[in-house]
This record gives sequence, C-alpha cells and structure tokens, in this order.
Amino acid sequence: MLSDRKMYSVLNKHQNRSGFKPLPVVIIGNGPSGICLSYLLSGYVPYFKRDSLHPHSILQRKLEEAPDISILDQDLEYLSEGLEGRSHSPVALLFDTLLRPDTDFGGTAESVLTWWHETNRAIPHLVLGRNPPGGAWHSIEGSMITLSRGEWMGLPDLQFKEWLRQKRRGLRNNRATAEDIAQYYQHYVMKKGLQKNFRCGTVVTSVRKVNAQSISNHAQKDLQEKSGSLWNFTEESMEVFKVDGFFRTVKGDQEPFSIEAENVVLATGTYDSPTWLGVKGENLSYVHHQLSALEEAVKDNSIGIMSDPVLIVGAGLTAADAILFAHHCSIPVIHVFRRTVNDPALIFNQLPKVMYPEYHKVHQMMKEQSAACSGLYECYVSLPEHHVLSFGKDKKCILQDKNGYQKIYKVSMALVLTGSNPNLSFLPNNGIDLAMDCNQPVNPKRNPIDVDPFTYECTQEKGLYALGPLAGDNFVRFVQGGALAVASSLLKKANKNPP
Ligand SMILES: Cc1cc2nc3c(=O)[nH]c(=O)nc-3n(C[C@H](O)[C@H](O)[C@H](O)COP(=O)(O)OP(=O)(O)OC[C@H]3O[C@@H](n4cnc5c(N)ncnc54)[C@H](O)[C@@H]3O)c2cc1C
Repeated sequence: MLSDRKMYSVLNKHQNRSGFKPLPVVIIGNGPSGICLSYLLSGYVPYFKRDSLHPHSILQRKLEEAPDISILDQDLEYLSEGLEGRSHSPVALLFDTLLRPDTDFGGTAESVLTWWHETNRAIPHLVLGRNPPGGAWHSIEGSMITLSRGEWMGLPDLQFKEWLRQKRRGLRNNRATAEDIAQYYQHYVMKKGLQKNFRCGTVVTSVRKVNAQSISNHAQKDLQEKSGSLWNFTEESMEVFKVDGFFRTVKGDQEPFSIEAENVVLATGTYDSPTWLGVKGENLSYVHHQLSALEEAVKDNSIGIMSDPVLIVGAGLTAADAILFAHHCSIPVIHVFRRTVNDPALIFNQLPKVMYPEYHKVHQMMKEQSAACSGLYECYVSLPEHHVLSFGKDKKCILQDKNGYQKIYKVSMALVLTGSNPNLSFLPNNGIDLAMDCNQPVNPKRNPIDVDPFTYECTQEKGLYALGPLAGDNFVRFVQGGALAVASSLLKKANKNPP
C-alpha cells in the first residue's frame, strides 16, 4: 500500500509548473476491463502457440500465417472476420475464442495463446478506481453466485479454476461466488505485478480536453527519454486530457489530484448509480437501492422473522438474489414488479432451469404465490403487474395494479432493485455526446458509447476509449476483447514501425 503522501505525489507528479509531462494513458475504472488492459499495456504480449490446433479451421489457417507476429500487432479485423458467438463484438469473439477455443461446445481445450513479457513494449499508464482492483465485484454481495460459468470469469494467462484449486475451493454447479471472483481479480493484479500502476481509492470527477500548446518540445522529449517505452509523441497530439479527482486518505480526508493524459480509457462500468423509481418518499431512510442494505439490516438485527415484510421492487436477478437472501433468513417479503410472470422478456424465462435452480425457484414463487392464492412458500407474496405509487413516512407504501386498484402495505424496509446506470457525470454533458444516440443517456444495452469496433476508440472523440458495459460488452469473458483492441490501437499509435 502506498502512504497518503506518496500516493499524492505519484498522482500529481505528471503535473508540474515548469514542464508538462502528460501520461500516455489513464484508465478510469479498475474492474476486469481496466485490469485486463493494464496487463496488456504492461508489456504482456500474446502470440499464437505454435503446436496448438484451433477448432475453427479458417482461424487456425490465419493464425499460422504469421506466428512470429503478436496478436496485438496483427490485423484484428482480418483475424475476427466470420467468427460467430454470443457477442456482437468481433474482437470480443476473437479474444474469447483464442483464450477458450471450444468453451461454447462444453469443451475445455487450452488457450492457443502463449504470453511473452516484452517490457520494451510496455506503455506507461495509471489505473484509477474507487474500490480495490476488481471493480463492481467488490460491491456485489459476496455469497452471490455468478450467472456465468466460473471459467468465463478468468483473465488472460491465469485460469480462474486453477486459482480456486490452489485455494482449495470449488465451483458450485460450475459457477463461482462473487467473493471468490473479487479475490481472484486482486490476486491477478499482484501476481502479474500490475499493482504499481493501480491507484485505488481514487475518484475521477472531471475529464476535459485541453489545449497543450504550452508544452515545450523540451518537455515532450524529456518524457520520451525517461519513460523508456516506445511511446512517441506526435506533432499533432497537442491536445491532452485533463483528469481531475480526489483520493481518500487513510483518515478519510479527500486530497485532490490532477493528471494530464494523451489517451483516456473509460472503464467505469455501470454499477455505481442504481435506478430510482422517481416516486414520492423514495428518499426516506427505510427505502434503499442496494441489496447490501438488506444484508446489513439482518446483520445488525434491525429486521428479522417477526418484522413487517420487506418490500422488494423489481424482477431482475438482483431482486431475485434479495428474495433468496430474505427467504434464507425467513424474513417476510412483498414482491412488486411490473411485468407478467410469463413475459418472455423476464430474465427467468430465458435461463435454463437445470443450470439455475435457485432462480427457477424464485420464478416459481412469483408464479404460484400471488396475493390472491397462497401457495407452498410462507412469508412471500408476489404482486405481478403492480407498481409503487408512493412511500409514506409511516413506512406505509401505496401500490397500484394494472387496473388502477390500490393497496397499502406497512413494511419494515423497501428495496428498489430495478437496475443501475453508468455514472459519467465526470464527462461533459454526462458523456451523452459519445453515445450511439447522442440525444439519450448512455445505456449498456440500449445506447452504448459509439466506438470503432476494432480499436474501441470513441468515434466522437479521438484519444478517448471506452471498454466493458459502457461499450456494450456486458460479460467479463467479452470485455477482454475490447482491452485487446485498445492495447493494439495504442501500440500501433506508439510504434510507427510495427513488426
Ligand atoms: C449483480 C451482478 C451480477 C453479475 N454477474 C455476472 C456474471 O455472472 N458474469 C459476467 O460475466 N458478468 C456479470 N456481471 C457483469 C460484470 O460485473 C461486468 O461485466 C464487469 O464487472 C464489467 O467490468 P468493468 O471493468 O467494465 O466494470 P466494473 O466491474 O463495473 O468496474 C468499474 C469500476 O470503476 C469504478 N468507477 C466508476 N466511476 C469511477 C470514477 N469516476 N472514478 C473512479 N472509479 C470509478 C467503479 O466503482 C467500479 O469499481 C454482473 C454484474 C452485476 C451487477
């Protein structure tokens, strides 16, 4: 851990009054996207493993054409052409299939990549993040089991299953707990020696493009010589990004910092700003927007078996996790959601029952345990096609059904778990100008940031990149392709004479 004073100086050292030393890259967000990119920018370079045989014969032929040239230096568009799978991003499909060649067919074939640590190809960078390395996985309830298979949560060249085995822990029904995932990401950063680039406990509050005409040629040259990397400043790169924010000291104070960077990568995910319903009383102290509030209330005994019911709003997996948790603690639940139980858009109608028995159980409760008919499960009432009208100060909530009939329930606490949105308040106009539809807020499913599919550079802002859910890649196995694309683009920018 860096001391506060050291952290302050490390964050601010690139800004000094007499000279100007922009960093080549600042990554905002230290989740799987930021970690994977930091790994690639630290000089870890993937090559096709000579003796390996990829099951996709066309890809195999292409890989054999240039085995001495790293994947980062090859034409990603050419390599990924014709690949199909569960992502819309060709580069995400490419990196995934190189790392896990036959995983979609239930196979466990080894990666066809071999990794070389070429320190002369490293690009100086910093990874800024609010939490410890691992991003959202430190905010997700630790006992929650992943939707994805455990091995799909791993990062390059350190198998998640292998790490679990060393820890003498196992998967549950092929899936992992959020706590294990968070620990694995922290371990990954240490194991790969990336921690020197990570500044955890830092929050970015502003990113602005500024004119760097004050840069003296002398200062630019100084950076190139001292950085010891291939990074070359170009004459055109006279605009830089000014990244401002603060970091929290051990005492809990906030110390401001400011860094100038040639390129900024947005990897801030989407978990930080829970969606609000926008109804009266939603800001009352018993109304919460995160599952952790329920766990804390159980831990400190402020609710229990004899309490008034907990109101859970929403019909996604986080709401289901809350129901399972309450059920496990025998806490009564009233469950309100807008859709019908058989709506095909409901996530439970899309998950195979065999792999997700716990979510299937919640779905069954939602179907069989409505207010009108009591079923097998005590302490749970399902209210499909209902919504909340208001939360009262006396903890009485008014609910309304599709026909306009209202019901009043007295609750102990309410949990609004209807999703979350990216928080891009640190960008001009909340980043809306960067979105596919630049009249609507950025949304990972409906309106991601518009990026070039083979570099992940924002089409609206050169030098700014977006990764992960912000760019529409919602699963860890697929965010890694974006990191490959960014690293490849930055290396090509840096090195005018690629191999
Ligand atoms: C409940 C839940 C279950 C999930 N289950 C799965 C699953 O089973 N399989 C799967 O593949 N994916 C799953 N996901 C999705 C997965 O979490 C994301 O795909 C993945 O974490 C995205 O990685 P990321 O690095 O892009 O962003 P994140 O992991 O969200 O990390 C971004 C980090 O940036 C930080 N940050 C944001 N703004 C700032 C700022 N201004 N300054 C500093 N730091 C900032 C955030 O605090 C966060 O820590 C799940 C997500 C949730 C919420």
